[in-house]
Amino acid sequence: MIEMDGIVAKMKNQKINYDKVLRKMINDWERNGERPSILLHSCCAPCSTYTLEFLTQYADVAIYFANPNIHPKNEYLRRAKVQEQFVHDFNERTGANVKYIEAPYKPHEFMKMAKDKGLTEEPEGGRRCTACFEMRLEFVAEAAVEYGYDYFGSALTLSPKKNAQLINEIGMDVQKIYDVNYLPGDFKKNKGYERSIQMCNDYNIFRQCYCGCVFAAMDQGIDFKQINKDAKAFLEQF
Ligand code: SF4
Ligand code: SF4
Repeated sequence: MIEMDGIVAKMKNQKINYDKVLRKMINDWERNGERPSILLHSCCAPCSTYTLEFLTQYADVAIYFANPNIHPKNEYLRRAKVQEQFVHDFNERTGANVKYIEAPYKPHEFMKMAKDKGLTEEPEGGRRCTACFEMRLEFVAEAAVEYGYDYFGSALTLSPKKNAQLINEIGMDVQKIYDVNYLPGDFKKNKGYERSIQMCNDYNIFRQCYCGCVFAAMDQGIDFKQINKDAKAFLEQF
């Protein structure tokens, strides 16, 4: 299996373009006649849209929904349902065979981590987010080992609000602990973000109005009563 370390080593002293790293890996897969399997973390459907459209050309992909950071529970259930529905609709429209796997919802693990590390007062984009990426990348790496995938990765880099350099650096660190390769990427590049907006419209995908955790949502003045009401009404359709 192709590993990214050699490709990244040749780019030392440069700001690494992880989209280029991924494309070099894909060239190597094609040269070697490989079609690897990828377990891809996603925290709601929007970031998975273009990411799946791109990756399924070269690999067998499963979405791993493991997000203990999302609060409240009804909102978690809504995002999980929207993600599952998108995977279903994407497969129907394109003939792809993307799997959807959902981890058990354990919000206390995220809360404990944030409190134990003293991160509850951090602003969005600060140290709590670093720990949150780390936690979720570890979950997907662990599951990739358990289910026998060739690579683990995340669709998160599609979001312009997320630090792709940081996410990729964490992925490379997590790779050292688990017996599975990290899939680098920066899916917002090459108009990936713009394509995701088009796909959200085409597939009629709900876009959330806050990242997920209670701390950032409170800073943003999110009305949890309204979120709960809307999420419940959404879930009642199923
Ligand atoms: S980063 Fe934001 S938009 Fe992207 S999947 Fe996660 S919650 Fe959704
Ligand atoms: S703002 Fe988003 S990424 Fe940051 S800790 Fe909260 S849920 Fe995680």
